[in-house]
Amino acid sequence: MRSASLPHRMTLLVLREANQPVKQIQVSKPFVIAVPIVALLSISSLIVSLQIQSENTIARLEDTLRLQNLKFEAVVTDKNEAIDRLQSQVITLSGQSKELMNRMERVNELEAELQNFIDKYGSQGGSGRLSSLSWDESLGKGGEFIAVHDQEIGELAQETRDDFLAISEMLDEIEKNVPSTLQKAKQTEYSISGTPSEWPTLSTRLTSNFGYRTDPFTGKAAFHAGIDISGKVGDPIYAAAAGKVIAAENNRSRGKYIIIQHPNGLQSWYMHLSEIQVSEGDAVRKGENIAKLGNTGRSTGPHLHFEIAKGDKKVNPLSYLQ
Ligand SMILES: [Zn+2]
Repeated sequence: MRSASLPHRMTLLVLREANQPVKQIQVSKPFVIAVPIVALLSISSLIVSLQIQSENTIARLEDTLRLQNLKFEAVVTDKNEAIDRLQSQVITLSGQSKELMNRMERVNELEAELQNFIDKYGSQGGSGRLSSLSWDESLGKGGEFIAVHDQEIGELAQETRDDFLAISEMLDEIEKNVPSTLQKAKQTEYSISGTPSEWPTLSTRLTSNFGYRTDPFTGKAAFHAGIDISGKVGDPIYAAAAGKVIAAENNRSRGKYIIIQHPNGLQSWYMHLSEIQVSEGDAVRKGENIAKLGNTGRSTGPHLHFEIAKGDKKVNPLSYLQ
């Protein structure tokens, strides 16, 4: 390149291959200056534009990341809360199962007591009842906070499942035992209330005992099949036990008399009454007022002649009466 004749123009020589002529291009001087400036400006603006674009992209990415982070945090918080809730539910359930087992143990003990009562007083022997279950229990609340680990909660959950299984088994057993225990209790109650043990008069003064004695009318030796209890005419006479009236009649020797049939083949006889207050076929309760004391039949004065029969044999009433 060299200076041309005109000061505002420049000549560019373009050298091509050896056998080709040199080419001259004339350009104005401002153009030569403008081209690099324009190029520079273009590159600068391109860089600025790229910078802005990348900043925007980074900002967007940052926003997205922040959002995702927030979402993750929310999910983690939710999960933690859910785990906390589950843990506290497991702990609550575990407490409930222990409480339930304690209560069932008490029910079991009551059932055992009832069973013992029946075995002691009932006519039938022991049953095939299993011994009551037992377990550790810890009462009271308080103490320092000690965090539990997931494994412990897992173990607690397993323990609670076992507890509920045990409760279910106990319920099965109670369900199985209670009806037969109740049945036996009813039999026992019937047997107890049907055993002549209630003293039949207000007075407890005996004038003649059970056994051999001198007959008050003939003066000869005779067998006295019951006891004589003195009293006033009109005094109440009570049924010695629950049962069914099988006789409510009058007889020359017995006077007005009542016979009550009790369970286990026992009967109680009441003689020389002044008034009968029940009828044949009536069911009577133990201690029920059934008649009034009197002096009817073969009697020397107001008294109750009381007998207990076991089958067809007369037995000493004093071995039954309280
Ligand atoms: Zn007598």
